[in-house]
Amino acid sequence: MNDREKLQVRTRVAKHLGLAGAEKVDLVVLPAMEVRMEAVTPGRRDELAASIDAEFYARPDKSKVPQTPTPLDDASVLAVCGTCRGACCKAGENHAFLTRTVLSRVKAEQRIATDASLLESYLNRVPELAREGSCIYHGAQGCALPRAMRSETCNRFLCYPLKQLGRDFSRTGYAQLAVSTVAQDEDRMLLLREGETTPFRPESRRLGHTDAEPA
Ligand code: SF4
Ligand code: SF4
Repeated sequence: MNDREKLQVRTRVAKHLGLAGAEKVDLVVLPAMEVRMEAVTPGRRDELAASIDAEFYARPDKSKVPQTPTPLDDASVLAVCGTCRGACCKAGENHAFLTRTVLSRVKAEQRIATDASLLESYLNRVPELAREGSCIYHGAQGCALPRAMRSETCNRFLCYPLKQLGRDFSRTGYAQLAVSTVAQDEDRMLLLREGETTPFRPESRRLGHTDAEPA
């Protein structure tokens, strides 16, 4: 999406919402994750098992993951990340940031008796299909791990665009559009306005090139 297209979209959304002008609509470009799926190979599962196994013998990870404050509530963060489809999850590869510290926490919280049972529990949650080029747990509906079994890195990370969106989340008379551009004909959009998020489903596949009003 180029600058002219962004301005077109901001102008039309401002008009649609009855806001004073394009300057009242901020547009933040999110990263984008492709949606192609591929089978998780036995080799990938073996790498995950080896990574977890190695962590059982590693020294506890004492580094702290910074807690980034955001005015966005959990549901809104999920909506934004759903629009992007989890681009940052690429970094999870076949380890999913499951350090010894994370594993010890999960083992204690879930009262799992042995390391072998914990490993089995993680292996059982690997989806059959995962997003191409992303974390082994990155399934069709997002992360296949329950939140309590994810690393602190996964649960706390906020990318730069997400932080920008939080800034003016509750401001009145103002709106933000989060746009994740996957390909020329596939923009995903989310409207953030006065503390609420609403998905945009434009009739046309390219909102910047159409007269159709956002739904
Ligand atoms: S934190 Fe950013 S990159 Fe990661 S899923 Fe959310 S919007 Fe996408
Ligand atoms: S474990 Fe889940 S949240 Fe973490 S990187 Fe993998 S898919 Fe993303």
